[in-house]
Amino acid sequence: MRINILNELRQPVGSIAVFDLSEPAIRLDDTQVRSLSGTLTLVRTNRGLLATLKASAMVPEHCARCLVPVDCPLPITFEEEFIPVFDANTSKRVPDAGGDDPFRIGPDFIVDLDEPLRQYMLMSEPQKPLCRPDCLGLCPSCGADLNSTSCECLAVDQRWSALAGLGTSTKMKGS
Ligand SMILES: [Zn+2]
Ligand SMILES: [Zn+2]
Repeated sequence: MRINILNELRQPVGSIAVFDLSEPAIRLDDTQVRSLSGTLTLVRTNRGLLATLKASAMVPEHCARCLVPVDCPLPITFEEEFIPVFDANTSKRVPDAGGDDPFRIGPDFIVDLDEPLRQYMLMSEPQKPLCRPDCLGLCPSCGADLNSTSCECLAVDQRWSALAGLGTSTKMKGS
């Protein structure tokens, strides 16, 4: 997702520009993020633009219980200062901020939002998505998906414990 910010950089300090973001699909590394929508607010600072992104997107995940693919809603918010390499009005080089490694904007004045999006998404990964709140998960013994099939493992366990119970009681009777 690329945005040209030359016009915004030519505004006086304190100017605010708001972009509506709507992207059906963005590829970030090996993750396909879908239905990203939100707003990007750019405030002109003395050196660049303070960017505040508030958006949400659908991210492919796997159900924590049964492992089927599920789309997870993911809120994405971040605030970063975009500092151009060259001043948009004077074409003079803008000095480095020194150490804090801001997102630098090249001489084309194009912001590529994919990199900050990727970084912030990695940090806000949802912990345990479920395909549905009452997902039954997989059988721990045979791995069957208990949502669609019922395996025999639990039934066998019950039969064994019943037999074990019988065994002890018979012994107790005999002694
Ligand atoms: Zn599930
Ligand atoms: Zn089983």
